[in-house]
This record gives sequence, C-alpha cells and structure tokens, in this order.
Amino acid sequence: MSQETVTPDERPGRDTMVEVRNLKTYYEQGGLFGGTPVKAVDGVSFDIERGETLGLVGESGCGKTTLGRTLLQLEEATAGEIRFDGVDVTTLSGEELYEWRQNAQMVFQDPESSLNDRMTIGEIIREPLDVHDWKTARERKQKVRDLLDTVGLKREHYYRYPHQFSGGQRQRIGIARTLALEPDFIVLDEPVSALDVSVQAEIINLLEDLQDEFGLTYLFIAHDLSVVRHICDRVAVMYLGHIMEIGPTEELFSDPANPYTQSLLSAIPEPDPTSTKQRFTLRGTPPNPRYPPEGCPFATRCPVRIRPPEYEHLDEEVWEGIGTLREVLRERERAERTVRERIGELLGRESRFKSLDETYDELFGDVAVPEDVQSVLDDVADLVENDDEAAALALLAEEFASVCDGHADGSGGFDEDDEPIQPEYHSVSVSGRKSFCHRHAEAYREPDDVLDERHG
Ligand code: SF4
Repeated sequence: MSQETVTPDERPGRDTMVEVRNLKTYYEQGGLFGGTPVKAVDGVSFDIERGETLGLVGESGCGKTTLGRTLLQLEEATAGEIRFDGVDVTTLSGEELYEWRQNAQMVFQDPESSLNDRMTIGEIIREPLDVHDWKTARERKQKVRDLLDTVGLKREHYYRYPHQFSGGQRQRIGIARTLALEPDFIVLDEPVSALDVSVQAEIINLLEDLQDEFGLTYLFIAHDLSVVRHICDRVAVMYLGHIMEIGPTEELFSDPANPYTQSLLSAIPEPDPTSTKQRFTLRGTPPNPRYPPEGCPFATRCPVRIRPPEYEHLDEEVWEGIGTLREVLRERERAERTVRERIGELLGRESRFKSLDETYDELFGDVAVPEDVQSVLDDVADLVENDDEAAALALLAEEFASVCDGHADGSGGFDEDDEPIQPEYHSVSVSGRKSFCHRHAEAYREPDDVLDERHG
C-alpha cells in the first residue's frame, strides 16, 4: 500500500467534469465578533468525474451545504477555483453566469418548503423554462408534461397545487423542475432525509434511473451514511471545512483510514456482534468554525491525536482531560460571557461550573495524575487564577505540544516560519483514496498494540 504525500483527489486519465482547487468560502460578520470570519469551507480540492455520484458526508455544520452552494455559485467563493469542463465559474458574471447556470442545478432537502404553494405544479416546473425564455409557450407546456412522465407523476397533475401531494410526490416535482433546463450536474442536498423510509427508496431509485437515462453527474450531500453507501461511487468526508478522506465508497466504508472517518463510522451499529473492528467514540461537538484549531481541524476531538514521546504511555483519561482543559481555556480566553455554557458543552454536561477548581475536579477527580503532569496543571491553575489564560495556554502547549495541534514536535512552537503545521494528504490505497492525517507519515505511525492499550 502506497502512503506517499499527494495532492488531494489527483486521478490522472479520468473524464473529469468538475475540478475544485483550494476552495474557501468564508462568512465575514461585523458586530460583536468583529472581523473574524466563519471558515465554512477552508481550502478543499477534489474532482468529480462525468457521470459519477460523489457523496459528501459529515456532521451538521461541517460546511457540506455551503460547499454545494458554492459549486453552483449560490454563494461567493472567498478563494480558489471551480472549473466545470475547464472553465473557472468563479470568474463568470452577468450573461455568462446566467447561461452557465442552466447546466448546474440543485435539489433541496425539504419538499414541503421548496415549492411555492400558490403556483400550480405546471407553473412550478415551467418557471425555469420561462425565466430562460426556452422555446415557445406551447413547447414549454409539452416539455413540462413530458417531465411529469419522466419523474413518475401524471400529466393531469399539471393544474394541481403542491398541498395536494405527499412528501415523496413533492420531491418528484422538485426533481422535475431541476431537470427542466437539462442540466449536466446536480447538487442533491439531503434529497431524501425529510421523507419516510419507504418513500426514500423510491426517490433514490428515481435519481439512479435519471442518472442512467440522462448521463447526469451528482454531488450527493447527506448525513445518512447508509443512503450514501447505497448510491455513491465515491465519498468525501468533511469536517470543519476540510475534506478528511476521499475515495471509493465501499473501500472507505469497509476500511476507513482517517481517524475522523473511523469515528463517524463507529457511530453506525455493527451488524456482526463478534466483529473485532476497533471502534472509537466521537466525543463532544465540533469547535466553532470561527475559531478552528490551528493544526489538524479534528485535533480537539481525535481519539488518536499524536502525543509527545514522553507522554506516550500517559493514561488516556488524563490525556483527554488535558485536551479538554486546553479547549476550555481557549473558550475562556475568547468569550468570557459564554464560558459556562461552552464548558458544559465541551464536557457534555449541563453548565454548572463556577471556577477552574470545579473543572479540574470534573476532568481529573477520578484519575491518578502523575506528579510531573500535576505540577504543570498546578502552574496552569495559578496563571488562570491571575486571569492570564494566554500564558496558561502557552504553558500547556509547551508541555503537551503535538504536531496535530500545529506545533513542531516537542518545541511548543510552530514551524520555522512560525506558521501552524497542517496535515498533508496521503494516498492510502492503490485506488487513490486520500486521507488528511499525520498518522500516515512514517514518523507518526503508531503500532496497533499502543492504540489497543489506550482504547481497549
Ligand atoms: S492529524 Fe492528528 S488529530 Fe488529525 S486526524 Fe490525524 S491523528 Fe487525529
């Protein structure tokens, strides 16, 4: 198995339709938080082959819908390129953008709210044709009737209203409208998650049939991993604006390489109770995308975060407690006003903390903390007592610095240019699957027995 460092999703010799390179979508907001942007999409690169379905998965808030909307130019990219058949659409405007939009459409999650209840089904499906002044009025009407056939509705439904239809039928109406301008590329944003399970299968089958009939290319955004496994050729796993792993669906599901993918998939019940596959618990919630971690985006929750050599055998609970303490102090430094809520959230409990003593008690009360670690924790407590969270954080970084946090090993500092170190993409299979993690580099591979010792 090759594990060299690579450019994400580089797959020479394919019939590529969409090429995304170092795409960023940031939301600037004024007011209380000033100029710190929310980094919804933070430098993603991938390709979509013509006729394939690429799945995009991740917890809510990871940036997947923003990424889909940015590809369609419904959100403005902050930086990077989106090339459709070689044309960078981020540079289009006016008539050119209007023309291009016919080729790229979106199906929305909620069929209840995405259709205008005051328009007939015929008017709803015909609207994009009217807007683009497609052929004659008579031909437009005929086209809508054909589309109703295509998506499994009846021609007489033309004069009915959305409220007369079930959720599944309404999604068929939404799909017919999306197909009206004969797009090549469709972003499906959670297209079945609002539907009953029995109806979900019908819509998935319809989408697959349409793809075969019209040669469509899909970006399929979903949080339901079983649906993704069924419909997608390849999957990109997203976390905090980054793609953590991307590769062929079956391979990624059966042998995930990235710790985040492993954690996400561990949440799915294992059908075989005798399976010995290592399972990780995905603890806590993702950090605020306005203040993402400086190194690996998953560093604050990663169950296998790389440790400095002197702490390799430190008890897992103590190590986790130190990680949580750093997050608590980071929040405290940023937003004194909401610290209690955030501490509660980070610890997965209701907010009830009054002082750092209580936090220490929660984190380390039931575990044996080695003397050298306790001495650092005491110094941290003194600094916090003097309201110097910045110095406390610097001390924690100096002592427990990890390459996963963006720090050069053991130095407590960043790289020679004083920039945080980020993981690189590594090829983790012969099929070209890529994973964004230091663990794939020779220097940081950890033997399974060390991980077993920690995670049981
Ligand atoms: S780089 Fe470190 S924190 Fe990020 S996924 Fe890999 S081991 Fe975990």
